[in-house]
Amino acid sequence: MSKRVLVTGGSGFIGSALCLRLVAEGWTVFNLDALTYAAAPASLAALEGDDRYALIHADIRDGEAVKAAFEKARPDAVMHLAAESHVDRSITGAGIFVDTNVIGTFTLLEAARAWRDGLSGEAADAFRFLHVSTDEVFGSLGAEGLFSEDTAYDPSSPYSSSKAASDHLARAWGRTYGLNVLVSNCSNNYGPRQFPEKLIPLMILNALAGKDLPVYGDGSNVRDWLFVEDHARALQDIVERGRPGETYCIGGNAERNNLDVVHAICDIVDDRRPTGTARRELIRFVTDRPGHDARYAIDSSKLQRELGWTPSLDFETGLAGTIDWYLANEDWWRPIQEGVYRQERLGLPA
Ligand code: NAD
Repeated sequence: MSKRVLVTGGSGFIGSALCLRLVAEGWTVFNLDALTYAAAPASLAALEGDDRYALIHADIRDGEAVKAAFEKARPDAVMHLAAESHVDRSITGAGIFVDTNVIGTFTLLEAARAWRDGLSGEAADAFRFLHVSTDEVFGSLGAEGLFSEDTAYDPSSPYSSSKAASDHLARAWGRTYGLNVLVSNCSNNYGPRQFPEKLIPLMILNALAGKDLPVYGDGSNVRDWLFVEDHARALQDIVERGRPGETYCIGGNAERNNLDVVHAICDIVDDRRPTGTARRELIRFVTDRPGHDARYAIDSSKLQRELGWTPSLDFETGLAGTIDWYLANEDWWRPIQEGVYRQERLGLPA
């Protein structure tokens, strides 16, 4: 099905993978993005000049600009990814997370409702709003069990609590105003074009440069890793065929603790760029993140059962491909390193 879609946050990590995928699928994509520090316009260079893609440089908190974006895009669907997304930054400065993730989502929902209200019956019924969220809203798991669509919310960080609030707003706009809202809660993503403050690209680039590899606490925290292009495919499946009013959990069936992830990165970087000294020797255990959730893991059987989605890559293959992408794309990450982000420690309370 060919669609016109308004993607928010399309210049970020997951949003850019999504825009690239949807244009390749023949959709017309309008990317509403404020181009914050986390945006990497270079990620979408392949779409420059493509008449199925346009950037709308605007802030989701700006109601007038968002209204104008709807008028320009005339979307059949909204896929809402714009957010402040880094837990460590939310610990040092929570205000922008509340502003963007909560107020911004509210502003977008109101604009979507007004847009839907102006559509004729059939188009209004077909209109979809996909709110893209995280498994971090569920808090922390013990050694056993998995998060599912029925898990109670219990967020730990300013980031995850702001996402939890936005999930509640999105569902409420469905129940109260009849907006065709879908919510997805996904586990940790990795892959090409991820901003180098996040664990996997930070470790790859530090390992390459022979810098310390800072591991929080004892490295035992477990995440369920999903390749970003598998996430983008799940989002397309949900917006096309998911049932309005429903939530879908998305995960990679790839639980790994942080220390194992860092070891795997060290070993692959040693293989690709040997120096004679094992990169594992660069590992340093540093003060843990306050409120650091012990374990996340996702049961995505609903998505598999209803929409036939499964992850396409195992973690080791995806990780090796990701490392090879960073090795081949220094012109993507070097300007970011030399500009806004210098790998400083973030996320200790001010
Ligand atoms: P990111 O930080 O890489 O990108 C966020 C994008 O949103 C950037 O391009 C930024 O410029 C834009 N943005 C920020 N504030 C904005 C505003 N006020 N108005 C318009 N645009 C704004 O984030 P990501 O990792 O790609 O995550 C995208 C979404 O997916 C987020 O909603 C996040 O909560 C969710 N998510 C992320 C993960 C993950 O592992 N990265 C996992 C599950 C869910």
